[in-house]
Amino acid sequence: MDFSWNEEEREFRGRVQQFLEQYWDRTAGERAMGDARKFERQLAEHGWLTMAWPEAYGGRDATHVEQMIFREEATLHEAPTGGMGPSMIGPCLIVHGTEEQKQEHLPPIAAGESRWCQGFSEPGSGSDLASLQTRAVRDGDDWVINGQKIWTSGAQHASWIHILTRTDPDAPKHRGISYFMLDMKTPGIAIRPIEQMHGAKGFNETFFEDVRVPHKNMIGDENRGWYAATTTLDFERSGAHRAAAVQRAFDRNFDYARQADSAGTGHRIVDHDPSRLAFADTHIEIDVGRTFGYRVGWMQGNGLVPNYEASMSKAFNSELTQRQARRAINMFGLYGGLVAGSARAPLDGAVGQEYMSTVSSTIAAGTSEVQRNIIATRGLGLPRG
Ligand SMILES: Cc1cc2nc3c(=O)[nH]c(=O)nc-3n(C[C@H](O)[C@H](O)[C@H](O)COP(=O)(O)OP(=O)(O)OC[C@H]3O[C@@H](n4cnc5c(N)ncnc54)[C@H](O)[C@@H]3O)c2cc1C
Repeated sequence: MDFSWNEEEREFRGRVQQFLEQYWDRTAGERAMGDARKFERQLAEHGWLTMAWPEAYGGRDATHVEQMIFREEATLHEAPTGGMGPSMIGPCLIVHGTEEQKQEHLPPIAAGESRWCQGFSEPGSGSDLASLQTRAVRDGDDWVINGQKIWTSGAQHASWIHILTRTDPDAPKHRGISYFMLDMKTPGIAIRPIEQMHGAKGFNETFFEDVRVPHKNMIGDENRGWYAATTTLDFERSGAHRAAAVQRAFDRNFDYARQADSAGTGHRIVDHDPSRLAFADTHIEIDVGRTFGYRVGWMQGNGLVPNYEASMSKAFNSELTQRQARRAINMFGLYGGLVAGSARAPLDGAVGQEYMSTVSSTIAAGTSEVQRNIIATRGLGLPRG
């Protein structure tokens, strides 16, 4: 089988690399959200944020493979890619949205103007998402929402939220859910940040009190929102970017480990046998993980909807981020756990930071157990456990 890129794809990758190297300084450290948004608008001007979308909605009618190359390169360069709009809710609207919804929401996403967050999880509903309790009740042309979401990533920066609500409490749980889009400025929405163990405040609790949303903002049919939301989840679990993120960390660690006296004992880290073998293991696994991601991209480009294939890619690559972080912290020894700012922290604490931040990678977007359940039922045809 020939896995090589064609001439146009190679040329496109070169152009993206050149642009990122010229305009995005990956060594700049922590930046203000405004810098990322500004850069996303530059990407949007090139049509790169949503390049595989139809031109009518602000895309470029490019291939999914090109879109995947862009996201892969952006991840390797630690550059922003537009968040959930281009990667989750936009693709879901292309499949399930009305023409009016597509006209209203896709162009601002493509232009980098709107930013989205996801209101799915609740304090009592994560893996068993269909048990969610946030209620929406019809009132004329509106629905009125009451309830609470949790782990809402980036709600503090979002202009819109896509949210699952219960609209028929008497129906079987998957069949009483409706899916809405809500302007975050709607009265009655309140957010409270949650601080993580490594200091970031990436996600929030989000509260809804008598929040009114027009019926036209419902995605898919009433009480059938679950089926549109699973499309969003399939897109969330897709992509070659997870393997690219591991590659980026690998490259950084490998460069450091080859420097003279990187082990601090007069030797290099790579002269130590277990470290050499650990690098070799990660090198093999990145290739495997990347191929999972490419398969999903190829399926999307050929009009197929990846489902258990997206779960395979997500499970493997999110676990790989943890294996890579664990191997790194072991090979960097006690210094590897030092935090940023410490004079003795190798790579300014990046290894320890990554070790802590990757803990969540097998929980976000559905846990590894949930992905394995999907693979067992939809991939292998086994009955539900
Ligand atoms: C970094 C990050 C970002 C997130 N961003 C968002 C967001 O933007 N929006 C949003 O809505 N949510 C978000 N989430 C929430 C995420 O989707 C949930 O945390 C996840 O689905 C797990 O749900 P839970 O935390 O309630 O754990 P639980 O469902 O309580 O699971 C606890 C443990 O039990 C296991 N388990 C549960 N059920 C089964 C089963 N049937 N079989 C086997 N094992 C099982 C799980 O695998 C897990 O190990 C985010 C989470 C993280 C970590």
